[in-house]
Amino acid sequence: MLEVKETTQSDDLLIFERSRPGRIGYSLPECDVPAVPKEELVPQGMLRSEGLAFPEVYEVDVIRHYTALSRRNFGVDNGFYPLGSCTMKYNPKVNEDVARYPGLSKIHPYQPEESVQGALELMYRLQQDLAGLTGMDEVTLQPAAGAHGEWTGLMMIRAYHESRGEKRTKVIVPDSSHGTNPASAAVAGFETVTIPSNSRGMVDLDALRAAVGEDTAALMLTNPNTLGLFEEQIVEIANIVHEAGGLLYYDGANSNAIMGITRPGDMGFDVVHLNLHKTMSTPHGGGGPGAGPVGVKQRLIPFLPEPKIVQVESGRYAIRGARTEGAAGGPTDGGTVGSASSIGRVKAFYGNFGILVRAYAYIRSLGPEGLRQVSENAVLNANYMMRRLAPYYDLPYPDQPCKHEFVMSGSGLAKYGIRTLDVAKRLLDFGYHPPTIYFPLNVEECIMIEPTETESKETLDGFIDVMIAIAQEAETDPDLLRNAPHTTPVTRLDETGAARKPVLNCACG
Ligand SMILES: *Cc1c(COP(=O)(O)O)cnc(C)c1O
Repeated sequence: MLEVKETTQSDDLLIFERSRPGRIGYSLPECDVPAVPKEELVPQGMLRSEGLAFPEVYEVDVIRHYTALSRRNFGVDNGFYPLGSCTMKYNPKVNEDVARYPGLSKIHPYQPEESVQGALELMYRLQQDLAGLTGMDEVTLQPAAGAHGEWTGLMMIRAYHESRGEKRTKVIVPDSSHGTNPASAAVAGFETVTIPSNSRGMVDLDALRAAVGEDTAALMLTNPNTLGLFEEQIVEIANIVHEAGGLLYYDGANSNAIMGITRPGDMGFDVVHLNLHKTMSTPHGGGGPGAGPVGVKQRLIPFLPEPKIVQVESGRYAIRGARTEGAAGGPTDGGTVGSASSIGRVKAFYGNFGILVRAYAYIRSLGPEGLRQVSENAVLNANYMMRRLAPYYDLPYPDQPCKHEFVMSGSGLAKYGIRTLDVAKRLLDFGYHPPTIYFPLNVEECIMIEPTETESKETLDGFIDVMIAIAQEAETDPDLLRNAPHTTPVTRLDETGAARKPVLNCACG
């Protein structure tokens, strides 16, 4: 019997199962260099004795296979994606066009400096813009991700304390901190000390006072914090840490709430990283590439990674630094460049250039006013959603406005035998990517929602209405939630098993 199918669904065959011997889906140009037998290039013992087990398919099979897979993907371009702490916002396509300009996308890092002046100028100006936006004195564009930026910042903090002959071994983090913070501190050779939040979801000042001491290297914080709340006592916090001789690290992965409104540098922070792939127009979610530039205050400048992009004279830019490598390297220019105390290079070449181009295009197309509007709308959208959902889900900190995101708790549904996980799975049936759940760890049955500024009121209302309907279903038909999702190709997966024992190859002969 033939089965009737929706036309958008392909069959479930693997590409290997479509394979038929002899089918070819490519045509290579003729070889335009003298052919050399592979036996002359590769030692005998390292040559394959049989061909690779690639599927043999026609071009159209490959196209349909990957198109079908792509339709199963969920992304910002096909739906609302309120994943808290991730800023899954719409990225203007014009910035993609700019990043693809041949003059920017077809250059090579080993080209002579004189032939890539535009690229160097773009990076230099981006450094300046990011320094202005964060209130820092100098910025490195090298780190390739947020966590990489954290590590880079911590290595500078380490070098700073060592240069003063101080042995400081501890990094303090609040219990709401992003998991990468303690992880980066550990990789940079520090011990982490976790301090509890107070009943208002903020850093507990007494706990902080008790934790700081002669061994404090730094406090890592994000503000607004991971609960979406602004640390009102940030100046006091900064004073406590500085008086103990420590530095303040700002996790600026999600800067959507503060652009053009306040700056980490003005709050007293010494180091900050930004995730250009969250706030500044690079799509993300698939593991990269990204960019995590780091800004520092004056006293940390000597420790910045090198080589650096510098302006050598008006309108002329160069790559300089004591540890400059490769053909593009030049002599050192003195000053802080060529610093013996630099922590050195943290990334091949100059960072992920294409991401830097998108960020620069984003900043320049919006301008200072536009960036401020981004933040104001992100905060407005989050507060609107929080207030409309408050009657149906518990707010752990009900009296405070949120910033770009907010947390709720699904624990009120426990009386129907429903958990936050069930709510998240049920959302899939309505075509939404679920919010972040069970993070941060200090809110029970946590649901963390970040609507972003790029969604219309209709989209926000649509999602809110579904969240309310799900809360009502929990009461009237809890099994519907417990067995959700009902409309996806697969339902509840063994997520732990998938992470710990992934099956990555095809066992189909
Ligand atoms: C995403 C995020 C990070 C880590 O960024 P990666 O680019 O994934 O390494 C760090 N801190 C916070 C608060 C984040 O949201």
